[in-house]
Amino acid sequence: MSAPDDTAWEIVIGLEVHCQLATAEKLFCGCPNRFGQPPNRDTCPICLGLPGVLPVLNRQAVDFALAVGAALGCTAHPRSVFARKHYFYPDLPKGYQITQYDRPLLTGGAVPVEAEDGAVRAVPLTRIHLEEDAGKSTHDAADATLVDLNRAGVPLIEIVGEPALRSAEEAGDYLRALHAIVRYLGVSDGNMEEGSFRCDANVSVRRRGQTSLGTRTEIKNLNTFKGVQRALAYEAARHVDLLEAGQAVVQETRLWDDAAGRTRGMRGKEEAHDYRYFPEPDLPPVELSEVELRAAAEGLPELPAARRARFVEALELSPYDAGVLTAERALADYFEAALAAHPGNAKGVCNWITSELLARVPATEIATGPVAPGDLGRLVALIDDDTISGRIAKQVFDHMLAGEGTPDAIIEARGLRQVTDTAAIEAACRTIIAEHPDQLAQFREGKTRVKGFFVGQVMKATRGKANPQQVNALLDRLLAEDATDP
Ligand code: ADP
Ligand code: MG
Ligand code: ZN
Repeated sequence: MSAPDDTAWEIVIGLEVHCQLATAEKLFCGCPNRFGQPPNRDTCPICLGLPGVLPVLNRQAVDFALAVGAALGCTAHPRSVFARKHYFYPDLPKGYQITQYDRPLLTGGAVPVEAEDGAVRAVPLTRIHLEEDAGKSTHDAADATLVDLNRAGVPLIEIVGEPALRSAEEAGDYLRALHAIVRYLGVSDGNMEEGSFRCDANVSVRRRGQTSLGTRTEIKNLNTFKGVQRALAYEAARHVDLLEAGQAVVQETRLWDDAAGRTRGMRGKEEAHDYRYFPEPDLPPVELSEVELRAAAEGLPELPAARRARFVEALELSPYDAGVLTAERALADYFEAALAAHPGNAKGVCNWITSELLARVPATEIATGPVAPGDLGRLVALIDDDTISGRIAKQVFDHMLAGEGTPDAIIEARGLRQVTDTAAIEAACRTIIAEHPDQLAQFREGKTRVKGFFVGQVMKATRGKANPQQVNALLDRLLAEDATDP
């Protein structure tokens, strides 16, 4: 299959993202909203869809949705309406899903999408609405369908993007940006494997310069960022091939087969559902006051893009470092707490986090891990004021990871304080030189690289505690003296 010719064809993509909200309870009942329970444990007459029960809206879900809307610059509507969307499926016990249709909670807004070159583009949104999730069907070996309704009634927001993305990569960047924002806001765990962040991808192609949209297909079964990008690249190329061969793209829903690396037809337009939407009679419209709408915007934390920019401008970190630190809110919080303990050296604190700490502790566990941020900042401070060398700091760090306490306590208990006493270091240097006449002779013959050997021996003799700069300077002097000695 040919790759779409960049010059002749334009790719048009619009994504529908379903994001589970991390509320304590489900959207319309008091069942716990949690993952990984035995099937059908977290259910009640409301989310089982038994007759005669009434849904009650979970206010926390509205607030979480409003926070996302505020972060993305959407218009929040003082009055929005729930609707019933009808379809028949075993994991939908009521025979309809409660969602929002013609009166969504939020409209407009945009996702700030940063490309690899750092350019930021605002990709417009159509709407964000609240709805309930359906249950989950699994097909067992005997070909029976098993239904688990723990997920039925879990709150979702559906974030519908305009057909404004122009490449598979940009669609990937858009998803990552959205994912970072919902995680930053703390409104979703964004776990794609567990299905808390899912996406349907719509794609079409058109001749460059054409203003009307081409016929689209919708791809489902996407559960990784990488998969979304691969599926969209595949599907756009398929459209181009069809059109270049004089055939038409059929509007349909297709399934992505990640193992095979291709999409397959699932259902066509003629089999499309008639959802028979109508307003939900059991729920009053969602009415929000001016004050409530304003509160959502005022309660926002600093978002990843703003934080990254601040790290670059105010702390003079590189865009790369700032990007690594702000990828997870917990990591950025950790960095700032560490920096508070040693405000003078943002780059040093950053390096210790990205190269030492992250090598040992996963980003998601850093906040609860064995090294408190203040202790890490203090460790860098102790290097910077020459209490310990960088090398000893790594030993101290190992002891910190092992839970032995603060860096000061470890240095004290283990006698790791750096020796900066010139007389003591000089004595150690003289002893080493006296003990190694062969190496001294080599040095005198001009093999100056042998100096490294002496540095190593002095450091070893002082158990790494001698200040390396002082050792170097003293050896330069002593070896030169000795060389002129008869
Ligand atoms: P539906 O309700 O059938 O899913 P919508 O018109 O609401 O259809 O569009 C759903 C998604 O499809 C939106 O994200 C939108 O941007 C995208 N979309 C619509 N038309 C096109 C198109 N021609 N090419 C690519 N994406 C499209
Ligand atoms: Mg759709
Ligand atoms: Zn329930």
